[in-house]
Amino acid sequence: MNKMKEYAAMRKAQLKEQIAQMEYPPSLLILQVGEVEASSRYIRNKIKDCEEVGISVVHYKADESVTTEELIDFINERQEYFTGIIVQQPLPAHIDQSRIDVAIDPSRDVDGFHPMSHFNPATAQGIIDYLSWRDFNLDGAEVLVIGRSDIVGKPLARMLIDRNATVTLCHSHTPRIKLMRHVHDADLIISAVGIRHFLDCTDLKTNIVDVGINFDNEGKLCGDCYYINETKSSISPVPGGVGLLTRVALLENVVRAAYE
Ligand code: NAP
Repeated sequence: MNKMKEYAAMRKAQLKEQIAQMEYPPSLLILQVGEVEASSRYIRNKIKDCEEVGISVVHYKADESVTTEELIDFINERQEYFTGIIVQQPLPAHIDQSRIDVAIDPSRDVDGFHPMSHFNPATAQGIIDYLSWRDFNLDGAEVLVIGRSDIVGKPLARMLIDRNATVTLCHSHTPRIKLMRHVHDADLIISAVGIRHFLDCTDLKTNIVDVGINFDNEGKLCGDCYYINETKSSISPVPGGVGLLTRVALLENVVRAAYE
């Protein structure tokens, strides 16, 4: 087992012990709309993780044709019976995501999507946990975050700023030539784009956290970064990188929600 796997397993074992001592174990409601294969795979992992540590899960699948109002009604009727609730993204285009986000009780919003949520989004938290596990000194570090989504880039940038990093946030409107200038200046690059081979890291000598989830031509999981074994950068790759800790971060949010 590599060290990252060992660390994630140790954190899960601690959670399992904590849950075993709780009078009312935490519970999670996962709401899925439609049948996007990637979403089904993420949900299977979440259910497996929850079962491993003793969190009970109810997985409800709504038909693709469900309306925003019907989803909000469903959430309002059920959420009080659960410690945490997740509405798996992406939702179909006809659903108003912002109304769904605010329908969830902030104290149960373990995904951290409600503006007043009591929790950090798990992906951003997992990345921060990884950097802290590595003893990466963020104070004064130049950090480039590529991607500005509400669930990864933006919350991550805020969390990095809170830890005194100097943060640059790039996105699809950032001209490539300017992006590459930031790439060469950064002490740490975090790529959350979702495009295979987006960043060629072969000749870089810096710290890189790959967050992207993509698939190569053979259907094998890969990240945003292209690199070879000889690269001089320190890379947290996909697969086998921060994903393990983002999964643990979600479990920790669910357990914390039980104390809210
Ligand atoms: P998203 O909502 O699609 O956001 C992608 C971001 O990348 C957007 O901000 C977009 O810019 C930016 N982008 C696209 N093309 C670009 C370009 N050419 N140059 C610079 N920026 C560009 O995706 P997300 O939900 O944030 O997820 C990002 C990736 O992380 C995905 O691959 C996702 O599967 C993965 N992910 C991994 C985990 C994990 O646990 N490891 C968890 C969640 C997500 P605009 O805003 O301008 O469109």
